[in-house]
Amino acid sequence: MPREPSKYIYLSSREDRAVSKFYKPYSDDRLICTLCQHYCKIKKNQTGICGVNKNIGDKIECLVYGYPSALAIDPIEKKPLYHFLPSSKAFSLGTVGCNFRCSFCQNWQISQSVNIDKSRYFSPEDIVRLAIENSSASIAYTYNEPTIFYLYARDIALQAKEHSIKSIFVTNGYESKEVVDDMVGIIDGANIDLKSFNPSYYKKNLGGNLQKVLDTIKQFVKNGIWVEITTLIVPSQNDSEEELRDIANFIAKELGVHIPWHISAFHPDYKEQNLPRTSIEMLQRAYDIGKEAGLHYIYMGNIGVENPTNCPKCHKTVIQREYFGVTKNSLIDGKCPSCGYKIEGVFQ
Ligand code: SF4
Repeated sequence: MPREPSKYIYLSSREDRAVSKFYKPYSDDRLICTLCQHYCKIKKNQTGICGVNKNIGDKIECLVYGYPSALAIDPIEKKPLYHFLPSSKAFSLGTVGCNFRCSFCQNWQISQSVNIDKSRYFSPEDIVRLAIENSSASIAYTYNEPTIFYLYARDIALQAKEHSIKSIFVTNGYESKEVVDDMVGIIDGANIDLKSFNPSYYKKNLGGNLQKVLDTIKQFVKNGIWVEITTLIVPSQNDSEEELRDIANFIAKELGVHIPWHISAFHPDYKEQNLPRTSIEMLQRAYDIGKEAGLHYIYMGNIGVENPTNCPKCHKTVIQREYFGVTKNSLIDGKCPSCGYKIEGVFQ
């Protein structure tokens, strides 16, 4: 059910706002954080796996509330979201901390840090004002895992709604059920990583659980939040034909053939300095596998190809792109100008 943003009551101080609404009691000295699928049982004066949600006695505080570590204005295509307000600007922010431990993380300097710069507090109102000043159609919670600062994102998103600015999550898909249900009417779109289809890889290399990610992605779609999926293809780690076929089939059968799949090229980073870059041939193989599974929209990222959107019915190009820019958008009210097919997504 869509929420009424105007009914949300804003508390005044940062301290009040940073107190989590997502926790429950566990024992005398532990609280369960219900922000993500880890459901950490946090002892008094300790933080959970993410390092930024802390049991401060009888409640949990989000330590990064109001303290972004990165702010930028990005094209929405850079998130990447290709079927969500094409060629618009997304005011983007992230904090320190993460609930995953990916060895190839491309933002590890902030995601794997818990050093919070408290020199300047950015209230939700400050963020929305900056987004308006920079003509942003959306605010993106990105760079690190936004679920761990959902309290902050939620307050910003509700303020942003008052100004018709949408909100998008760029996420690893490890939100709790409680959070994904709360997002209805607050978060409009998400790019969700599906990093592998191997349960032991998720557990050992990422610090997560494959089945929980799959269930969370399905819950996003069921809740009516626009979803695009990204798979970073890491040579020798998740690039077997079988695994790519499993991912493509999951998207096609469990989510729908209309859900865009972004297959993205890896470059050596963080702890994975010895693996080669993903080749264009490998991405092409993944593309072909996605097409065999019946996916309508497949895009190659980090490799400099044009990535047009073609109408799945008449095959005419409806959006042309170059790098992160849209060079031509022919859609009329979100429909193919040649055959009238309604391209799935959020188009104005
Ligand atoms: S956000 Fe996730 S990782 Fe962080 S404390 Fe809560 S349950 Fe644990």
